[in-house]
Amino acid sequence: MREFDVDVPAPAKWGEGLVAVAQGEPIDLHVRLESVHEGILATAEIDTEYSGVCGRCLIDIVEPVEVEFQELFGYPGAEAVDFEVQDDHVDLETLVRDAIVLSLPFQPVCQPDCPGLDPETGERLAAGTVPEIPIDERWAALKALTPDHDDTAPRRVATDTEKS
Ligand SMILES: [Zn+2]
Repeated sequence: MREFDVDVPAPAKWGEGLVAVAQGEPIDLHVRLESVHEGILATAEIDTEYSGVCGRCLIDIVEPVEVEFQELFGYPGAEAVDFEVQDDHVDLETLVRDAIVLSLPFQPVCQPDCPGLDPETGERLAAGTVPEIPIDERWAALKALTPDHDDTAPRRVATDTEKS
């Protein structure tokens, strides 16, 4: 078994969504290679960062990425393996890239309760505010038909004495 740490820059931009690992971003790898009967079992822990924009308020965000994978590299001629040991080497790049890209959030947010943008002004709302949803013009007419729309007032129920 062999273990080693490598620090390599991302060879290209990885990710196509709102966030991606930028080209040149350092990728920290902790790799363990184990000799097994069928080939070499590679286990890798990956640490890097993705950057991009929040899907709700569009501010720039940078977040850590921590992923790991394990894959068996079969010796040439081995059956039922997706990866092969080639010239005594294992090529981890595709696996590292796929592990990172699959871990990137589809809807990244700057914070879990990001309030997003004001629907009217397009300004970023302060944290903790709830965007006020404007009433649809077509429903505004209905509001005028109910002179008293205090729905919190309890409905008056006829008492037994009134009924008799
Ligand atoms: Zn945000």
